[in-house]
Amino acid sequence: MPLYNHKINSKLPNIKTTIFTVIGQLAHEHKAINLSQGFPNFEPDPSLIDLVTKAMKQGYNQYAPMAGVMELREMISEKIEQLYSRHYHPDKEMTVTIGATQAIFTIITAFIGKGDEVIVIKPAYDCYEPAIEVNGGIPVFVQLNNTDFKLDWALFRSKITPRTKMVIINTPHNPSGIIFSKADMLELQKSLENTNIIIISDEVYEHITFDGHKHESASKYEGLASRTFVCGSFGKTFHITGWKMGYCAGPAELMHEFRKTHQFNVFSADHAVQKALASYLKEPQHYLGLNQFYQKKRDLFLDALSTSRFKIKPSQGTYFQLVDYGDISQEPDQVFAERLVKEHKIASIPISGFNTKGTDEHLLRFCFAKTDETLEKAAEILCRL
Ligand code: PMP
Ligand code: GLN
Repeated sequence: MPLYNHKINSKLPNIKTTIFTVIGQLAHEHKAINLSQGFPNFEPDPSLIDLVTKAMKQGYNQYAPMAGVMELREMISEKIEQLYSRHYHPDKEMTVTIGATQAIFTIITAFIGKGDEVIVIKPAYDCYEPAIEVNGGIPVFVQLNNTDFKLDWALFRSKITPRTKMVIINTPHNPSGIIFSKADMLELQKSLENTNIIIISDEVYEHITFDGHKHESASKYEGLASRTFVCGSFGKTFHITGWKMGYCAGPAELMHEFRKTHQFNVFSADHAVQKALASYLKEPQHYLGLNQFYQKKRDLFLDALSTSRFKIKPSQGTYFQLVDYGDISQEPDQVFAERLVKEHKIASIPISGFNTKGTDEHLLRFCFAKTDETLEKAAEILCRL
């Protein structure tokens, strides 16, 4: 019998447990091959682990500086300048965070209040909307075209109102795998001219692009960079999602405001890991080889699926592959995904939860950041359906 009757007036009455936890637990229970939540099932580079151990042994076991270890901020800044030709001042324009998730949550908390509108492009990764709502903001949705996942920029512009405070973009895009082109970035830039709208550019998959597609960072565009927080994640790039290490870069004035919240939100991120990453980043091949590494995995998975009844959606980047199962079943996507786990021992992510109003287009997302053996086994099961 509870001693106290909690009458919770929920700030998030409609938010359920994230699909990644729901499907992940089900996969575990049924011992299914898990291609659901996005994480590698192989180990990171042992030399990176050695660097962390070394940093711990050297005594980097207490709080790191609030904005992050300076060598790491310098290395990130150098990397961005090399790749996208923009200089971010390591001291004033760069903060290391506990994954991109914390960067995004803290930016939204620092800038969004009651009644502020935030444009979110759907389908969208699931951490944006609750962060907006818990801060009293209003998510305003623009749905990508359901065949090729292109954004209709006239539709986007029609959503801008005097209350629009922020726009969130994500390229390469989770879950569709599309990449914003230079033309898209210029459309975005033009659409926001003469406004004070801030952008969150979620670029956690910046190093995973295929078939010659180039990542167009918001930092490359003057009219975007001056109003954008670019968010990155080492979890995706170095196969260390469990280390929860990310960062954001943005103009000094915005970063100053961001840190007012960041310092009381987490204060700082893991010290030893930051020291290790600062060394590891000195070798660009550690991240520049990732495109090829994952393109091979995507191709292996798609080849192995070629005799299946799934219809494949083009994946230009990220480590996700969308498939249409409409020729196999007409069940709702979550029902189908759960049945795949229970009856066929294979886990994927249903997409309806990421769409506006939960629209179900019979799409599943498979993560191919897995060993070749796992991908082959998974495809074998999927070809039998
Ligand atoms: N944004 C997107 C689009 C993602 O897929 C993820 C998933 N990891 C994140 C942000 C969060 O990144 P992190 O794990 O660094 O918090
Ligand atoms: N980004 C990962 C994905 O899309 C999930 C991370 C999480 O569960 N929050 O699968």
